[in-house]
Amino acid sequence: MSAQLTLALSKGRIFDDTLPLLEAAGIQVLEDPETSRKLILPTSNPLLRVIIVRASDVPTYVQYGAADFGVAGKDVLIEHGGDGLYQPVDLKIAACRMSVAVAQGFDYASAVRQGARLRVATKYVEIARRHFASKGVHVDLIKLYGSMELAPLVGLSDVIVDLVSTGNTLRANHLVEVEQIMDISSRLIVNQAALKLKREFLQPILAAFEAASLNRT
Ligand code: AMP
Repeated sequence: MSAQLTLALSKGRIFDDTLPLLEAAGIQVLEDPETSRKLILPTSNPLLRVIIVRASDVPTYVQYGAADFGVAGKDVLIEHGGDGLYQPVDLKIAACRMSVAVAQGFDYASAVRQGARLRVATKYVEIARRHFASKGVHVDLIKLYGSMELAPLVGLSDVIVDLVSTGNTLRANHLVEVEQIMDISSRLIVNQAALKLKREFLQPILAAFEAASLNRT
């Protein structure tokens, strides 16, 4: 039988961390996206295929039903808005934090105290906007698509808002983490119509994902 279910994943951390969850549901992905370059990957379950998309596109594929379910970071979900998505499970994978960082020597506390208008470079404009609004800090948001760490070093911004895991990237670029905004981990997201119409296929996989992620706590 041809695939009935489509799971959207992004390459790298999320794909790698989702493989053990699929295995807990008795499913192996039959090709490696790093070497095969294919965007549609078969699995050992003929009913399930995996599609490989950009991390920030996962919610869009699931929202429109092109994928029945997917795995996306909390950061990506907040930026997307989460319309049409059911978020049943925090998988606790790809864990990191969203933080504010500055160049060494930049006095963040006094800049905030003095009510200076901060220039903030980030890919995560919605999270940054909400964070600084809640602190009552006026900001100019500068949207970037990558290499945020560079921005304070070349005078593009005063601060950055970015994901931090080990802190190695910040240290290598002489940046200092000055504020943690929120913990981030990846969530299972499900198309709301698929949840109703394909329940018999989806439910066992969702249950296995949930059980496997509970074991991670
Ligand atoms: P680290 O050097 O370990 O602190 O990792 C920071 C770099 O990896 C930054 O460029 C982040 O954008 C990226 N990063 C860290 N954790 C994640 C994650 N869970 N998902 C996506 N990107 C991440």
